[in-house]
Amino acid sequence: MARKKIFAGNWKMYTVRDEALALARGIVDGITDSPGRAVVVFAPAVHLREVAALCAGSAVMAGAQNMYFEKEGAFTGEISPAMVKDAGARWILIGHSERRHVFHETDDDVRKKLRAALSEGLFPMVCVGELLDEREAGRSEDVVRVQTERALEGLSKNEAAAVVIAYEPVWAIGTGKVATPEIAQSMHRYIRSVVAAKFGEAVAAGMPILYGGSVKPDNIAGLFAMEDIDGALVGGASLKAASFLDIARVT
Ligand code: PEP
Repeated sequence: MARKKIFAGNWKMYTVRDEALALARGIVDGITDSPGRAVVVFAPAVHLREVAALCAGSAVMAGAQNMYFEKEGAFTGEISPAMVKDAGARWILIGHSERRHVFHETDDDVRKKLRAALSEGLFPMVCVGELLDEREAGRSEDVVRVQTERALEGLSKNEAAAVVIAYEPVWAIGTGKVATPEIAQSMHRYIRSVVAAKFGEAVAAGMPILYGGSVKPDNIAGLFAMEDIDGALVGGASLKAASFLDIARVT
């Protein structure tokens, strides 16, 4: 089965309004439609409505970098799934390593956010990945398996089929130390086997699994050539339209 290819930019806490709109404009104007490929920009929440409006009708979709799992309430500083959707965003990033490690989000938070995203009809991209010391201790697969299983816990097959996973080894994020294509491929295949064990081969075979961690125009081809790598989640190199477009053009 041909899986969807996805290229996503995570703008993190960069860009004031003019910069965000110029970046979105550069991507929208530079992208060419490619069948079976989706392009997503995870913009800062304050820019979401304008970025989503700018992307409307183009091959680029807007997403939020985070949200809370409750519908509404006294949760100062948070945004809800309905607010994300109302702003015009289609996608939501869940469990990014910076959310997990800087803001102490747990696997349980990730699971609740995933359920909330699915009930709101948002497309969820769930991040998993091990720390450097976990890799050095030979625990990468265990860590990623637990994160994946806990995130997907309790979902029906249909719900699981709507999830996109991004494997982002934490030691590769923002460090310039990209995982080799072989390391990434081996983890992607493993994640697919974890999904297959819970939801069956068909769900696993159809699930896009993206790689993230220091992806650049000069290393995407080797990664994307691997059988189980279905695209990329890009941080630093997504902040310049030209380099993000070069990465997405690998398809
Ligand atoms: C990210 O923010 O998800 C990421 C992978 O960052 P970078 O590409 O800068 O490593």
